Amino acid sequence: MPAKGVLLVEMADVVVAGGGVIGTAIAWRAAVAGLDVVLVDPADGQAASLVAAGMLAPASEALFGEGALLRLNLLALRRFGSFAAELEEATGHQVGLRREGTLAVAYDPGDYTALIRLTAFRRSAGLDAEELDSRACRKLEPFLTPDVHGGVLFADDWSVDNRRYAAALREAAGSAKVRSVRDRVAEVRVRDGQARGVRLAEGGDIDAARVVVAAGCWSGAVGGLPDALRAVVRPVKGQLLRLRHPAGVPPVISHTIRAIVRGTDVYLVPRADGELIVGATSEERGPDRTVTAGAVHDLLHDAMSVLPVTSELILAETCAGLRPGTPDNGPVVGRCGPDGLLLVTGHYRNGILMSPVTADAAVALLAGQAPAPEWEPFTPARFTGEDGSR
Ligand SMILES: Cc1cc2nc3c(=O)[nH]c(=O)nc-3n(C[C@H](O)[C@H](O)[C@H](O)COP(=O)(O)OP(=O)(O)OC[C@H]3O[C@@H](n4cnc5c(N)ncnc54)[C@H](O)[C@@H]3O)c2cc1C
Repeated sequence: MPAKGVLLVEMADVVVAGGGVIGTAIAWRAAVAGLDVVLVDPADGQAASLVAAGMLAPASEALFGEGALLRLNLLALRRFGSFAAELEEATGHQVGLRREGTLAVAYDPGDYTALIRLTAFRRSAGLDAEELDSRACRKLEPFLTPDVHGGVLFADDWSVDNRRYAAALREAAGSAKVRSVRDRVAEVRVRDGQARGVRLAEGGDIDAARVVVAAGCWSGAVGGLPDALRAVVRPVKGQLLRLRHPAGVPPVISHTIRAIVRGTDVYLVPRADGELIVGATSEERGPDRTVTAGAVHDLLHDAMSVLPVTSELILAETCAGLRPGTPDNGPVVGRCGPDGLLLVTGHYRNGILMSPVTADAAVALLAGQAPAPEWEPFTPARFTGEDGSR
């Protein structure tokens, strides 16, 4: 990205506000579709996309009451493979896609009851789930503690190295001639009911008839959005640890492991390069991104309870990110306010997974077409009562 405050462009077909995986994927695909795109982001390292665990896990994350979200997540997983292949082809970089599946395990009998209840719901939604006793869990993952009560294999879940993926998206966008501006969008400029571009925080305007606000949990701070949407997205803090194997030590797990430990959830996500992600907290603390001693303790304690060998690994990084949450946990994708304005945010805990289908939906909307039907429950109109079909 160019130095802060340096404005190299004044006119484009589309301005995208926000350079996390959502905004960057949209910018790349819109440029591939032939549009002249400017991507604006302060590039200050705050994006949730760089903190995430990278699970692509509709099955093991499906929760009661989130049927429409599950259908969208399943569409997202079906799309992810071809999108990642195109990205790897465009950049020559691997994004670390893994297809081993998720092994969900329960630490004690109470945890097992909870896991089996969730599994019954997931099966009723048509998802594949194989129940395993403790011995079968340890056959799949020999370093699991013998105390594990039992588990369920969700063989269809994947994961991706979200940092490699985000870097590849940025590179692909650059190669497709997306122009990057290192700044913050202060407001969407509007005249006669039509979006005319954006005003930048450091000064200067970019003219464009179409504007996409994809600024994650900060989207509501962009001026020019309808009032009813400004408070719809909130930050949900997640703390997460990055561990590394000491030199010469082979990876201790091959599946993503999701564990319930005395009622608390913890996950461990292996990477091909020897990293092991341990996450994550879920906290309502506004924009706070500090890492706390208690969270590091609790995450390590729960991880070691199910996978004692975790204590031998190197604690390489602790981090915290802000998931863009919404009142119904679903994304907000569609037209709103003046003609030419799209709001694309609220991907909460599934933004990495949903980034390819979100880019598809945004490019369709920019071309005046309808996105896939799985998006229908997730328009801004559900919060504004506006007609989102324009
Ligand atoms: C701990 C944790 C674990 C997670 N694990 C997973 C997972 O396993 N799988 C999964 O699919 N998802 C996961 N997520 C969720 C995922 O990270 C998010 O849903 C996704 O990153 C949202 O992407 P985004 O581009 O909308 O937002 P962000 O990545 O937050 O990017 C928003 C960007 O907008 C920029 N910005 C802010 N204000 C402005 C402005 N005014 N103008 C221009 N730019 C602006 C910011 O600088 C930032 O770069 C996790 C999140 C956390 C925190």
